[in-house]
Parts: sequence; structure tokens; C-alpha cells
Amino acid sequence: MVFINIFTPDKLLALGSALNVQHPRIASDLSDALIEPRMVEPTLSGEPLVIRWQPRQPGMGLIWLVMPLLLFTALAIALVTRRVIRHALHNAVISDRRFEMLVISQRELANSEERFRDLAEAASDWIWEIDDQGRLCYLSSRFTRVTGHDVKPWLGRHLDQLLSHPSHSLVASLIRQCDDVQQTPQRCQFLSASGERRIGQLAAKAIVRNGLRVGFRGTVSDVTHEVDAEARIQFLSRHDMLTGLANRMQLQEFLTGHLESVTEEEPIYVISFDLDQFKPINDTWGHTVGDVVLNQTSQRLQNLIGPGELAARLGGDEFILILRASSRAAVEYRCRALQRAVHQPIISGSHQLNLTASMGIVCAPQDAAQPEALLRLADIALGQARSDGRDRWVWYSTDMASHLQSKRDMVQAIEDALRTDAFTLHYQPRYQLQSRQLAGAEALIRWQNSDDQWITPDRFIPLAEENGLIAAISDWVLMRACHDARDWGEPRYVSVNISPVEFRHPGLVERVAHALAQSGLPATRLELEITENVTFEDPDRALEIMQGLRALGVRLTVDDFGTGYAALGYLKTFPFNGLKIDRSWMKEFPESKQAQSVVAGIVGLARAFALTITAEGIETEAQLNELKALSCEEGQGYFLGRPMPLSTFNARLHQEQNQA
Ligand code: C2E
Ligand code: MG
Ligand code: MG
Repeated sequence: MVFINIFTPDKLLALGSALNVQHPRIASDLSDALIEPRMVEPTLSGEPLVIRWQPRQPGMGLIWLVMPLLLFTALAIALVTRRVIRHALHNAVISDRRFEMLVISQRELANSEERFRDLAEAASDWIWEIDDQGRLCYLSSRFTRVTGHDVKPWLGRHLDQLLSHPSHSLVASLIRQCDDVQQTPQRCQFLSASGERRIGQLAAKAIVRNGLRVGFRGTVSDVTHEVDAEARIQFLSRHDMLTGLANRMQLQEFLTGHLESVTEEEPIYVISFDLDQFKPINDTWGHTVGDVVLNQTSQRLQNLIGPGELAARLGGDEFILILRASSRAAVEYRCRALQRAVHQPIISGSHQLNLTASMGIVCAPQDAAQPEALLRLADIALGQARSDGRDRWVWYSTDMASHLQSKRDMVQAIEDALRTDAFTLHYQPRYQLQSRQLAGAEALIRWQNSDDQWITPDRFIPLAEENGLIAAISDWVLMRACHDARDWGEPRYVSVNISPVEFRHPGLVERVAHALAQSGLPATRLELEITENVTFEDPDRALEIMQGLRALGVRLTVDDFGTGYAALGYLKTFPFNGLKIDRSWMKEFPESKQAQSVVAGIVGLARAFALTITAEGIETEAQLNELKALSCEEGQGYFLGRPMPLSTFNARLHQEQNQA
């Protein structure tokens, strides 16, 4: 019996489940048949049948069961590790940075310490520190250099023993101001090791540790020089540098302050005080002598000034005195004393100077109650004292102001006269005394105003000088005179008066050259007269101008010689060709011995300087003869010919020429 067992899929499945194996199957080929697990069944054909199945894998199940857990755990571990690493890296970076910062801050600390040390050494200040009891616990080494004291002996001592304040304890005041963030610096004093009293400026700050004040530290600067300089500036701002008297600023303050309380019963008197002839002294003897005069005068004035009064210098020889007195008589008594003081000779080196002064007085509140007005009115009164002949005092009166107004009107009238050509020239002949020949003429300005009044040059020339109109007048005179003199014939000259004021500004040389060029008059036939009784403000500039004029070929003459102060200095300094003896010397000449010796002296002096001499104001034959006897070269005066209009002068000229 043959059993054929056909392994159908169902049979195989049943076999599998009987054998407890999974998915039994017939091996597909030889190589598959060799793989375990397998079961070999013999077959009739001899070729065994190989049954293959899937072996059971119990571990895999376990693996599938545990795997998610493991994965999750691994993930969690990975995340944690990542965080830990990141944190560690972050911390490493931070600590690196911290380290770097530490290095930097250590370097900065070292720098700052070095800076502090250098500053503490280089600064003029010294640094101090005190404990809460005020005892010094630190002093920088600069302390020794500034004060001369050693540091050690001072440590432990009280700050107030080192630095003092006239009114309070410095430590107490530091404690009082302790709450202030920055304490205000205080002035203090200390003694240097050499015993010198020095002034310091103390700056301080509280030292607070754990919220508690444990002391103070700060600096002290030595401000002695600054304080001295400040005091000096303060003094200079209110005093005149040269004389030490009050200056304009202090005067202003004084007047403003005192005028508030002034009454008619208790008035104050303002005196404008001016030295007569101060300028010539300055110009002749130099500024050193000028300064001596101002200083001595200031001292004398100051000695006569009482409490509640003031002496001020406004500049030059201009002084203001403020006096208190019960009456005008009392003021005059004081003025007499001032005058006596000024009259005392001033000795400077080998010079003895005799001075006088003019004073203008105004009373507050009667005349005015404002400082500016008082000074202006005192100045008007001073002007009056000067024109009344100087060496006196004059009380201000209201008609002086109206006089001033009339002066203003006069200035206006001069301007109009220049515009309307209202001036004319008269010529006064000048003769050679020995030969009695007409040498030339002096041009003298004449002005007939709109009221047909003749106004003498003495009245308007000084005013024109004051108001800057003189140059315009001179230009007119120069042009007119040069034109008029052109036909007088060689070598007759015309002499023109030039004001010393015109030597202050350049341009005179050009103006004269212009007049000569326009008129065609040779320069050698023009003479310029410059008065001696007024001196030049700037002698160097005047000299330069004179040299320019001389270079043109113009002659220069000193006019009114013998009246001024600077006679000899003038002749020595400036390049004059001639001098004219002032007519005042002719009054008593030749009768008075004194006048005679003065005139003879001037003639001798002129000769010594090789100057041509002209006598002015010859009114008598006796004068003429005496001058001839003294070998005076030229002369002019009423006896020889009065100033006359051009036509009359020309007629005389013709007559003389015909006679010749
Ligand atoms: P000065 O230059 O000394 O002129 C001479 C003055 O004496 C003239 O007065 C003249 O008239 C006067 N005089 C001449 N001979 C006699 C005399 O024998 N006896 C007396 N008693 N007097 C005599 P004037 O014309 O009144 O001039 C006065 C002054 O005015 C001049 O003095 C001169 O300094 C100035 N002056 C005149 N004209 C001008 C001018 O054009 N320009 C300038 N800057 N000043 C002038
Ligand atoms: Mg003259
Ligand atoms: Mg004269």
C-alpha cells in the first residue's frame, strides 16, 4: 500500500501547527533547501523533500517591546546631555569673559592708580584724608612739597591744627555739610614750614562705608597767589594805577552812593582840579618827571582829603575832589589849602618845578544831583577858571552853561563861514630892520560875521582847534596866502600861522605841498609860524611832520617865543629856521632893564641856534632902534605897518619897489 501524502498548503499549515512552527513551506530551490531550520522528508524519487519554516524569534518580541522605551530614554538622555553641554559651554564662555574682564579691570585699576599717583604728584593740590574724629590719616607726598612740612608728624593730628578758618572749625563745618553730595570748597589758612601764612582752598567729600560715614577726604590747593592777584585786580579796577587815587569807577560809585543821602543842609562839593601847564612839563622833561609831578600832586591832594571825602584821578592831570563842608567859605578855605599844596615846588632829580592848578567847583544837590551832570558842570567851571587866567578856583554858575551854548553857536558859525567863504586875509608887513626893506608879510585871518561884526582870531581859532575845524581853516588860509604872495616878487615870503593841533595828524605836509603846487608859489617863499606856548602831544610825530615840511623847502618859525614853557626844548628838538620874539616883551622894551635883558637874551639864544630873529609888536621908533642895536634881523608891528587888506599891502609893495 502506497500512501501518498500530498503536502497541500493546508496540510503544511496543519503540520506547522502540529510541530509548532510558523509558515512551513517547501524549499524553493537547492540553496533554500540548505538553510536551517528545515525538515527533510524522503520521497520515492529519492530526491528528499525539504520543508522550510520560519523559526520562532522570541527575543525580537522583547526587542519590539523594549525598543520604544529605549529610544525614548536615549532621546531624553541626548536632550539632557545637549542641555548640559550647552550650559557648560555657556558657563565656560561666561567665565572666559569674566576672566577677561577681570584682567581688563585689573589693568584699569593699575592704570587708574598710576593716574591718581601721577595726578597727585603733578597737581598743585595735596590730598588729605581724615577719620570721623577729624584726625589726619593720609597726606599725599605733594603736601611736603607745597607746605614744606613732613607728612609723618602730621598723621594722627587734627585737621583744624593744620588748616584754620577765621570764624569756624573746618572739621565741624565738614560734618555739618556732610549730607551735601559735593561739599562747597572753603577758603582756609595754613602756615608753611618756613612760617609763611598761605591761603588754601579746601575741597572735601565724605567717605561712606556700609552706609556709615567713616571720615572725609579731599584736596587743598594753595591759592595764595590767586587771592593776591584777585585783591590786586580788585584794587586796580577801583584805583588809578599810577597814583593809587580812586579811579573813574570808584568815583562813580562814591558819587552815586553819596548823592542818595545828600541834602541842601549837608551838601557835597565836586571840584574838577587840573594842573596848569602839565603838558609842557611832560613834553619837555619827559614822562618820568611827569609821573613824579602826578604822584606828588596826588599825595598832596590825598593828604588834604578827610573821611567821607574822595580824591580821584581821571587821567592825565585831571583830578576830581569830593569835599564836604558846611559853607562856601569853608570850601574856599579848603581850596586855598589845595592851592598852597600845589604851589610847593616839586623836586625831580635836578629839576625844580613850580606848579599852579585851576579848579571848578559845583555843589550837590544845589547845582545838580546826578554824577554825570555834576562832573560836566564842574568841568565847565574849570574851563572858566582856565580862561580867567588859571591858578584859581571858580564856582559854577548857570550863565557859564549859556556861555557854552554860545560857544556851540560859534562853532556852527565857523562852519557856515567856511562854506560861504566869509573869511578874508590881512597882511602885516615884515621888514628887514637894518635895510628897512620889506621882507614879506604875515597872513592874519579876519572874519566879519553875518551881523557885520569883526571877530578876532583869538576868539575863534582856539574854538576851531577844539572842534577839529582848524585844518579846514588852515587849508583855506594856505591856499589864499600862497596865491596872493605869488606876485610879490622874489625873495618876499608869506608867513602863515599853523596851529600845533595840526601836528597831531599826518597830512599837513601833503596839504602844504598841495597849496604850493596849486598856487605855483616856490616853497622857499612860504614860512609857517608855530606857536611856542602850546606843546605837541606827540613830539615824535611833530618832528617827523616838520622834517617833511623842511624837505619841501618851507621855512619854519617859532611864534610868540618867550611866553611858553618849553622855549629851549623847542629849539633843541625841532628843526626851526627862525623865531619871533613875543610882542608881550615889547611892552616895556626898551625902558625896562628886565625886558631889555630878556630880549637881548632871546636874540643871543637865536643866534646860538643859528635862527633868524623877528621882533613882533614894534610900536615905537625907540623899540625899532634898540632892536637894530641888538642886531635883531626882522621886525613887524604897528609902527612898521598894521595888518592890512591885500590891495593895501600890494600898493605899499609897489610904492617900496618904486622907491627902490
Ligand atoms: P600872532 O601870530 O602872534 O599874530 C600877531 C598878532 O599881533 C596879530 O593879531 C596882529 O594883529 C597883532 N599885532 C601885530 N603887530 C602888533 C603891534 O604892534 N601891537 C599889538 N598890540 N599887536 C600887534 P591877530 O591878527 O589878532 O592874531 C592873533 C593871533 O591869532 C595870531 O597871533 C595868531 O596866533 C592867530 N592867528 C591869526 N591868523 C591865524 C591863522 O590864519 N591861522 C591860525 N592858526 N592862527 C592865526
Ligand atoms: Mg604869527
Ligand atoms: Mg606872534
